[in-house]
Amino acid sequence: MTALPKQGSTLESVMDRLRSLQVDDGDYHNARTWGLIYNAGPEVDAVVQAAGGHVLLENALNPLVFPSLKVMQRDVIAISAGILNGGDDVGGAMTSGGTESIFMAVKTARDRARAERGIEHGRLIIPRTAHPAFIKAAHLLDVEWVHMPLGEDLRTRAADLEPLITENTILAVGSAPAYPFGMVDPIPEMAAIALARGIPFHVDACLGGFMLPWVERLGKTLPAWDFRVPGVTSMSADLHKYGYAIKGASVVLHRPKANLRYQIFMFADWPGGIYGTQAFLGTKPAAPIAAAWAVLNFLGEEGYLRLAQQTLDATSKLIAGVESIDGVHVWGQPDMTVVALGSREHDVFAIGDRLAERNWHFDRQDDPPALHLMASPRHALVVDEFLSDLRDAVRDAAPSSTTAARYGDDVSAEATAR
Ligand SMILES: *Cc1c(COP(=O)(O)O)cnc(C)c1O
Repeated sequence: MTALPKQGSTLESVMDRLRSLQVDDGDYHNARTWGLIYNAGPEVDAVVQAAGGHVLLENALNPLVFPSLKVMQRDVIAISAGILNGGDDVGGAMTSGGTESIFMAVKTARDRARAERGIEHGRLIIPRTAHPAFIKAAHLLDVEWVHMPLGEDLRTRAADLEPLITENTILAVGSAPAYPFGMVDPIPEMAAIALARGIPFHVDACLGGFMLPWVERLGKTLPAWDFRVPGVTSMSADLHKYGYAIKGASVVLHRPKANLRYQIFMFADWPGGIYGTQAFLGTKPAAPIAAAWAVLNFLGEEGYLRLAQQTLDATSKLIAGVESIDGVHVWGQPDMTVVALGSREHDVFAIGDRLAERNWHFDRQDDPPALHLMASPRHALVVDEFLSDLRDAVRDAAPSSTTAARYGDDVSAEATAR
């Protein structure tokens, strides 16, 4: 058990120790991580460090004390709504990440259904590939959830939505794209069904919100997936993914923006005064707000398009390379920069073990088994090396692996603790 040292140390020695703890960490500066980090290169790193560092000690709990944080949040929300083709009737809040944005979207739908339709115990309908944050939200908010089945082609089928809608359905969801195979759900068809049944529809663009707009602009034709689609009542989009901000930055947007009244929390009967919050957090870090605001302004449309082109080129090269290697393939048809690598001949996790030995990091997923690769601009530098290592890994892979599929933290010890 580590105890607080009796005596302090110098900054230098603390930092030395911190750095020494990092020896086994994923090397994202050299793009060895195919997930968790969205690396846009040293110039963007410097921008987020400068802006984030500048406000590091501030608190966005009360932006009346730091009006700059209110202005920056308002800007980030308006810019995000614009990127997602929202009009003046779209409004929202900055949150700490996709999980909080999704939580607030479900909470808003729950409270709106309570107030407007008298529904006490609501139902949430999500595709099988939707992020588990929806299930976490449903669990915490005491909302029942049901999965739409997944098609043979690993796609969500809009026709599966209708039969799951009940009198007490408070929200249906589509992803743009979904994390596992990087494919965008049939948003126009799903939202049309929800609209016809009078049910709110959320598009989870946590992953694609700051990438798909540029993918379309660069010439790929996709069915509409954002506020262009009638019936879309809320969206989530993570600035800390392809927005290239620092961790702790996302937006949740509502249409009409008056629905925000179901999201906010206010309590007046406290000796401490009126407690009001836009989303879940109380004390709220300022650095992610300032870093997101800074990087949006630093890159502009032109910068995001350039980085998207770079990332798409790396992805195309990756996909073509994978398809050229016997024994491995890509699952589904990825719509942007997220690729699930599978194998019908080998245990793909055993291939993953060989790649891990060469210091590549990625998530592993089940059903079907796959190595999950998310490209970011920096991967343009390493995709050839990765493909060469992959070729070797397929050749040298053991017959099987004992490594588990995992996305988040390993909580098995806590789960079984007595
Ligand atoms: C990352 C992600 C989330 C959750 O976001 P966090 O920021 O990790 O909480 C939700 N949906 C999708 C599609 C994601 O990729």
